Amino acid sequence: IPMPLTVPPPSVTTPANNLLARIAERIGEQYVLTEPKEIALYLREERGLYDGRTPAVVKPGTTEEVAFIVAACAEAGMPIVPQGGNTGLVGGQMPFGQLLLSLARLDRIRQVDPVDMTMTVEAGCILDSIHRVAEDVDCLFPLHIASQGSCRIGGNLATNAGGTAVLRYGNARELVLGLEVVLADGRIWNGLKRLRKNNAGYDLKQLFLGTEGTLGIITAAVLKLFPRPVQRVTAFAAVPDPAAALALMRRLRAQAGDALTTFELMASFGLETVLKHMPGTVRPLAGRHPWYVLAELSAPTRAFDLGSLIEQVLVESSESGEVDDATIASSESQAAALWRLREDMSEAQKHEGGSIKHDVSVPVSRVPDFLTRALAAVEAEMPDVRPCPFGHVGDGNIHFNLSQPAGMAKADFLARWAGFNRIVHDIVIEMDGSIAAEHGIGRLKREELAHYADPVALELMEQLKNALDPAGLLNPGKVIAGRGGDDI
Ligand code: FAD
Repeated sequence: IPMPLTVPPPSVTTPANNLLARIAERIGEQYVLTEPKEIALYLREERGLYDGRTPAVVKPGTTEEVAFIVAACAEAGMPIVPQGGNTGLVGGQMPFGQLLLSLARLDRIRQVDPVDMTMTVEAGCILDSIHRVAEDVDCLFPLHIASQGSCRIGGNLATNAGGTAVLRYGNARELVLGLEVVLADGRIWNGLKRLRKNNAGYDLKQLFLGTEGTLGIITAAVLKLFPRPVQRVTAFAAVPDPAAALALMRRLRAQAGDALTTFELMASFGLETVLKHMPGTVRPLAGRHPWYVLAELSAPTRAFDLGSLIEQVLVESSESGEVDDATIASSESQAAALWRLREDMSEAQKHEGGSIKHDVSVPVSRVPDFLTRALAAVEAEMPDVRPCPFGHVGDGNIHFNLSQPAGMAKADFLARWAGFNRIVHDIVIEMDGSIAAEHGIGRLKREELAHYADPVALELMEQLKNALDPAGLLNPGKVIAGRGGDDI
């Protein structure tokens, strides 16, 4: 089994034909960074799994400048790695010798239209700033992920990000009407249509959504807006097991319909880890329980009262033994405190030493079965491993994370990553699930994709790559192996 964590020492591709000088002349030399101190920030990723290397970070400010750089790189045979906010969790945004193209300066909101319910944004806009602009026109852009203060919309679309409101609004892919993309040869495809209906030929934007910068560079997008919710209720409930959590979700769905926006599950170990390590967090319910759920209802109307609705459902669930205890936030600050318990989970886990992480999905109905099987299997492999499963259970997406046994050396634990992958991913595939639910494949899961994907699917992916990027210069070695058997 290939080890996903080791990256053989790569060479840094040396830019030919005065490439950097040409780029500097076009975009300004202050936007071509080569000093190790200046570029260090772009070369470290959240999980510390990879150290990137690059001859330079280039920071164009317009789509035309992106097109110029890509065309110049194509001419010089220089491979490129696009990067947005550098919050990706699978190493897709890390260069291993290639030129790093940062989209951060493309950060203009080009148009907001509350009648069309659309916003046209450039790829470098920070997700949070898009939320605020939508609110200014009394609308909602519903993509919510814990990294929203730093991730950028181009990265969100390139990874088809998920998050905590997928249950109601879908993944990033479903929130896009149009795209503008720079192709591998430097041509600009202007697909920035604001249309709700457009069946004129192939839906080309899908080629670039979720393909992690391997088929084109997204420079702008038309996003869908939604009516802004005027009421929101957040509840935190203790449940005896994941099956009870699903029963609670069914009740909420049956009574609240689409108002059920978020339904997240976490195990006891996760909550205790957050409470132990994250200052200011507060135990939400008395005592300890095996599993917890964070649920949120929201609606753009006051036609019915969500507070009484959720209260009634929680009472019914408690009478049926599905809920052991629950609390409903009575203010914005209480709701924020409940949300922190979920959103601080990854940060808190870092304090418990090494973590082996799996971002997987199974059909929603099979989550309880998956958890039973996967927990038993990893504990059989390493009896004192500390599982920390949590995630978007309403979407069937579990972050099946494992914290190292107390006292074990971190490196010894991480050396077992590939073995744990096989155990967990075999179960996922047997249950008709996916080994990459929302974070993508990047570099981390490339071998896993090659191992598990349908051979015909892999062949089609290769064919698409060859058609759109025949020289293999866009994010080579990510998602699928690059040219010439490279193993960056
Ligand atoms: P980057 O990390 O910069 O890049 C990600 C990938 O997209 C790379 O392959 C890169 O080459 C490519 N790319 C970037 N910009 C472009 C572009 N303009 N054109 C083409 N390709 C491009 N993800 C979820 O889905 N759901 C979550 O709930 C979630 N929670 C997170 C919580 C935390 C605390 C953190 C740190 C991360 C979380 N993530 C989550 C992962 C990450 O935030 C998302 O993958 C996000 O969409 C990445 O955006 P970014 O701008 O940081 O992209």
